[in-house]
Amino acid sequence: MAVPQNRVTKSKRNMRRAHDALVAGNPADCPNCGELKRPHHVCGACGHYDAREVVATTKDVDLDEDAA
Ligand SMILES: [Zn+2]
Repeated sequence: MAVPQNRVTKSKRNMRRAHDALVAGNPADCPNCGELKRPHHVCGACGHYDAREVVATTKDVDLDEDAA
């Protein structure tokens, strides 16, 4: 098993981790439904992109019908 040759000091470890922070996204309002959406991605709420529906959304699934 590989073993580190030298101890990493707290200072060097923290200097490395200084760049590990997550950056916030840049969400924008969906022009169709107004939900926040990621830029250049299909809206997760309504399935629209570039003012047209590209992913069909199924909100009226009848679970009782499937169970029968
Ligand atoms: Zn939308």
